[in-house]
Amino acid sequence: MTDIYNAYINTTEVKGNGSGILSGIRVSIKDNISTKDIETTCASKILKGYIPPYDAHVITRLKAQGAVIAGKTNMDEFGMGSTTENSAFGAALNPHDVTRVTGGSSGGSAAAVAGGLVSMALGSDTGGSVRCPAAWCGVVGLKPSYGRVSRFGLIAYANSFEQIGPMTTNVRDAAKLFSVIAGHDIKDSTSVNKPYDGNVVPEISGKTIGIPKEYFGEGVDAGVAAEVRKAIGKLEELGANIVDVSLPSMKYALPAYYVTCTCEASSNLGRFDGVRFGPEPEMNLPWHDAYTKVREAGFGAEVRRRILLGTFALSAGYYGKYYVKAQHAKQLIAKDFAAALETCDMLAGPTMPNIAPKIGELTADPLQMYQADILTVPVNIAGIPAISVPCGIAHKMPVGLQLMGRMFGEETILNAALAYE
Ligand code: GLN
Repeated sequence: MTDIYNAYINTTEVKGNGSGILSGIRVSIKDNISTKDIETTCASKILKGYIPPYDAHVITRLKAQGAVIAGKTNMDEFGMGSTTENSAFGAALNPHDVTRVTGGSSGGSAAAVAGGLVSMALGSDTGGSVRCPAAWCGVVGLKPSYGRVSRFGLIAYANSFEQIGPMTTNVRDAAKLFSVIAGHDIKDSTSVNKPYDGNVVPEISGKTIGIPKEYFGEGVDAGVAAEVRKAIGKLEELGANIVDVSLPSMKYALPAYYVTCTCEASSNLGRFDGVRFGPEPEMNLPWHDAYTKVREAGFGAEVRRRILLGTFALSAGYYGKYYVKAQHAKQLIAKDFAAALETCDMLAGPTMPNIAPKIGELTADPLQMYQADILTVPVNIAGIPAISVPCGIAHKMPVGLQLMGRMFGEETILNAALAYE
């Protein structure tokens, strides 16, 4: 396999012992999902050479169904980014135009699928990391409801938001892969007992789809909006009932997300100190100097920025001002979604406000990078499922239609996506 898109950090061909619905199917795995005896780096220098002694729950399930683990995919370091440029192993390249980014943070998984190297991959989605690269690379990506897929063995970035999800060339494969990974796991205390049977059928007629006006607000590219409106028109032709809705608290989504995720990251990344994980520190140094040296050399700029932001926001005196406030904002956003989804079976809008930018275009300004997540992070805040399906071409690049469902309503959005596809 020649990896011209820098989609992989490590290529492997490890066959599971079981046989089942994934028998012989090669599946690539984002490099923040632990794989027994296969190096797992989170695209960070600090984990270079780390070989997990166990498989993540999703990997155990994949192997039991006969899947072949075909490599560990490139990503933004620890999942922090929207382009897969924040990788210690270099940026992944978009198979539709190699001068553009794949999106992130699961960009390697998207490039591997879009570039025809595998038909299925796993990504993780904390604030859009499955859906963003799926949209920008023209593949299908599903972010499951919070708790539906075990996070055991997923190296945590912001654990209250994230889920592992399938990235595939088509909706049927997404449903198939999702049916393998969904279900209860005793090793993840947030895991719920909601398996998915994989019986996806095209079904959209009679469903009510809400179009939140905020999903077509300021900053959404006109070419992208036009393709998504066309897709919504097609859903209407297929018998869906289209209604306008509003999510007034969505304006708080980005600040609430970025405060909370940096707080969680600053705590989760504490274990990379050279003692528990990471290269061994110099033992003759005072402990804080030893830790500092390991962390300074091991973490990239974006990871350090987020650890600092999170540590600041959690510090005594600021905790109430930032962290607690962000939690309140999250509740308002979740309430907006719950209210809209009381009357609608699902919501629809663009996945990303723009097409994939050129390499280097977004990394110059972190705030601009965070802005790109405006249409994906609200879903993680609400905990609901969402799928991105390719829906057209704008400025010669793929555009994604995002369908957002009720909590544990994956079946409804998968069926709608199949009807659309
Ligand atoms: N771009 C978002 C972030 O940097 C989302 C990343 C993700 O979902 N892992 O936090």
